[in-house]
Amino acid sequence: MGVGSGQGAMRVLVADDNLISRRLLEAALRKWDYEVVAAADGNEAWEILRSPNAPRLAILDWMMPGLSGPEICRRVRASGGERYTYILLVTSRSENQDVVEGLEAGADDYITKPFDQMELRARLASGRRIIELEDQLLRAQATLREQATRDALTKAWNRRSILEILDREVDRALREHSPLSVAMCDLDHFKQINDTYGHLAGDAVLVEAVTRMRASMRSYDSLGRYGGEEFLLLFPGCEASAAVRLAERMRREIESRPLDWQTGPIRFTISFGVTTLQAGRRLPSEALLRVADTALYQAKQQGRNRVVALPPE
Ligand code: GH3
Ligand code: MG
Ligand code: MG
Repeated sequence: MGVGSGQGAMRVLVADDNLISRRLLEAALRKWDYEVVAAADGNEAWEILRSPNAPRLAILDWMMPGLSGPEICRRVRASGGERYTYILLVTSRSENQDVVEGLEAGADDYITKPFDQMELRARLASGRRIIELEDQLLRAQATLREQATRDALTKAWNRRSILEILDREVDRALREHSPLSVAMCDLDHFKQINDTYGHLAGDAVLVEAVTRMRASMRSYDSLGRYGGEEFLLLFPGCEASAAVRLAERMRREIESRPLDWQTGPIRFTISFGVTTLQAGRRLPSEALLRVADTALYQAKQQGRNRVVALPPE
């Protein structure tokens, strides 16, 4: 699920042990198009708030059996969830509660019973603005992260990210005493595809190549766009023979059928250079890249549309 709360009614937790005041609140909230989640005591309220996909607006009675409103506030703030919960505490004039204590416990706002409907509505609306503001920020952050780490055209990791992942995988391979295979691949005669069918067709071929390679990847493999029509694949835990089989399967997937392009089918092929860091060997990632690149160069020299594997120096 996305971060947006824009779709549908916003959910509000209403926690009050008094059935009548709970029902009153519920009725008012429904009238204002909120979706109500009700809790009859403090423990139930806390269970709801700590559950996944909990309501992000909460109206908590101060005095409740089990946990009090301020105690729930403290727990919510201490748990430091990824997303903010906006909490409105409800106090009774007769109970003469210390509002400062409630706010210090982590409440965002409070309202006094018996409350004025319009005031409650306005206070909820300001809570809602905070939640929506946070959603906007989270969305912007997700977009920025995406832009910083992914290649815009193919959605594969960008060059910087795949190199970071390579460094991490090299460290991990050594730590876990497991092999790591690296494949560098490059579309064959790609310039010709651009020249013959146009740049847009070339772009579509790049996207299609990534889609087909992905189909053969395992969940812990990584694929990044290393350059224009050159990609880097990481196969953690993969011995040389298995890596060659994987690359060979990807190569065949690409060779086997053309891309369905608007002006007609486009055939394309790809060459692979593969190398494997054996379990327990320490080698800088640059050395692996250099060998994979040499293997790729040999694949091109030998006629393209093939996989060449070389052991690291
Ligand atoms: P080889 O088989 O030796 O790899 O030949 P090639 O034509 O594939 O290699 P070359 O390096 O000569 O040409 C690569 C071309 O890829 C040139 C460049 O314009 C094109 N290219 C790079 N990035 C993109 C892109 O994002 N979209 C498109 N459509 N073309 C790109
Ligand atoms: Mg090429
Ligand atoms: Mg190239």
